[in-house]
Amino acid sequence: MKIEEFKDFTIQDYHHLLEEKKISPLELVNIFLERIEEGEDKIHAFLFVNEEKAKNEAREKTDNWPEELPPLWGLPVAIKDNICTQGMPTTCGSKMLENFVSPYDATVVERLKAAGAIILGKTNMDEFAMGSSTENSTFGPTHNPLDLRRTPGGSSGGSAASVCALEAPCALGSDTGGSVRQPAAFCGVVGLRPTYGRVPRYGVVGLASSLDQAGPITRKVEDAITILEVISGKDSRDSTCAPYPPFSRNEIPSLEDIRKIKVGVPREYFSSRVEKVIGEKIQEALGKLKGEGVELVEVSLPHTDYALEAYYIVASAEASSNLARYDGVMYGLRVEGEDLQDMYFETRTLGFGKEVKRRIILGTYSLSSGHYDEYYLKSMKVRTLVRKDFEEALKQCNLLITPTTPSFPFFLGEETQDLYERYTDDIFTIPSALAGLPSLSLNCGYEGGLPVGLQIIGGPFEEGKLLGLALWLEKLLALPSPFPELKEGRGQ
Ligand code: GLN
Repeated sequence: MKIEEFKDFTIQDYHHLLEEKKISPLELVNIFLERIEEGEDKIHAFLFVNEEKAKNEAREKTDNWPEELPPLWGLPVAIKDNICTQGMPTTCGSKMLENFVSPYDATVVERLKAAGAIILGKTNMDEFAMGSSTENSTFGPTHNPLDLRRTPGGSSGGSAASVCALEAPCALGSDTGGSVRQPAAFCGVVGLRPTYGRVPRYGVVGLASSLDQAGPITRKVEDAITILEVISGKDSRDSTCAPYPPFSRNEIPSLEDIRKIKVGVPREYFSSRVEKVIGEKIQEALGKLKGEGVELVEVSLPHTDYALEAYYIVASAEASSNLARYDGVMYGLRVEGEDLQDMYFETRTLGFGKEVKRRIILGTYSLSSGHYDEYYLKSMKVRTLVRKDFEEALKQCNLLITPTTPSFPFFLGEETQDLYERYTDDIFTIPSALAGLPSLSLNCGYEGGLPVGLQIIGGPFEEGKLLGLALWLEKLLALPSPFPELKEGRGQ
């Protein structure tokens, strides 16, 4: 089979092919490896392609075809490079971990493997997941497959680009303040940030532990459901993981019930900051729902404007403490110095990039005595207000719909030019992350070949409703799945 035949495939479609023995895991892996070979000099979505092992595993599976196939049996999956994969590099896009090979699998990876998935490789990302363009990767940026001159978003830009270009059928990313949803929006694919505590963080390298969640990046909503079923559920190795069983598609209400859902439209997310066309596309999608009889209500999230500042303080504070472990002793890079202090200094100076240093300094400052009350504590109070905003709004409706981002994918190189502008790109994904709520980005249209992401936000552990609405909306919108030609050279 040829790669373009998989353009509209869901994971279940691959599953059926495998069940019917119309394709073998080895053939499937080889098709994706070929596509990677074809696309990578233009896209650079992968930091490591697991060629040998993936082939061996696929061969082994092909030779031992079970009677009944586990849900992801034989399916190649790409993994963001801050998620630990045993025996493979886990660099976090950083020089600090350039030669680090993880001795164990993250729980999410363990669960994917147990469900039969084959790890295809590790995807590019902003260093330690700080950024929204992949330009903060030590190993060079990823290019948006839909327009190679532009960013695929970040920090899970490699995962989103690989799925968009069909270099992988699906991928895992991580979302602290938007890193699954924003790149999904920029690449015209689906990105789900689960409720905080829905998916174990064990083995997901910590950026800001009170915010980090791993989530699927897929071509269809259906696939986000399949992956969530596999990776979610309690884990004794992560005490912040909720003691609930894995998500099940049985939690998704029937279409009849979804039609009765009330959708809130938060006024603050349709300000002048949003590019006109993006606002229009979201309104069009809302119009479609209204046409189907869905009730829309305007709601307000009054503290939205303060969420960004609070996030950058809280996330940087937690990052400064999480990243203290990279000191040349335990993991990764070590640069010898005259004494111990000097060794720490040299290692961290060489190992971390600019953005990481900036955040460590900001975070350490805001936690220091004398400044703690003024910054960290204040930000935590704002976080509570943001959460309460959502609680109030979700009393008036069941789900919220907003744009995922205020703007289109920007040109590579712009990130470094206007830092504040780039930070503000996250204004619509940060608030629900601060509140720990599930949120999903879905493509709702194209303008000049560039996709527009629509975000659905739900109450805690209400992924069922959220995914139910997303499935239906995806059907109503009936947009083609991306299959970019990748004709232009890199940077053209
Ligand atoms: N872009 C945001 C940041 O730089 C979000 C990153 C993320 O979710 N990991 O912090």
